[in-house]
Amino acid sequence: MTDPDCLFCRIVAGAVPATIVYSDADVVAFRDINPHAPVHVLVVPRLHYADAAALAAADPALVGAMVSGARSVAAGEGVEKSGYRLIFNTGPDAGQTVFHAHLHLLGGGPLRLTMA
Ligand code: 5GP
Ligand code: ZN
Repeated sequence: MTDPDCLFCRIVAGAVPATIVYSDADVVAFRDINPHAPVHVLVVPRLHYADAAALAAADPALVGAMVSGARSVAAGEGVEKSGYRLIFNTGPDAGQTVFHAHLHLLGGGPLRLTMA
């Protein structure tokens, strides 16, 4: 359930460096290398699924674990009360570029409607 050629599997394994802000048995969360907001963290499952749809089909409880992990990240980043946005980019029209499911957490100030 991991792919040695996948960037986010490699970050989860510690083979590629990242600024990890939260981890638990199910997920790892790290800062996006190209942030679109003052707080921009990616929450990824430890297991490899290409996108949120594949993940939801195979393991819906893991989707819940990602949202729970995001809540912990928000608390750690101090944006739990000010608010934050969660985004799954899924497939080409959404601009998905990394094909290991990931949840964007954006916050730290007023957000525009899109992250483009
Ligand atoms: P997507 O467009 O697939 O939803 O988002 C992928 C995200 O991964 C992008 O926001 C991009 O900046 C981020 N990203 C790509 N490569 C790396 C990397 O090597 N390290 C980190 N921390 N983030 C990355
Ligand atoms: Zn992967």
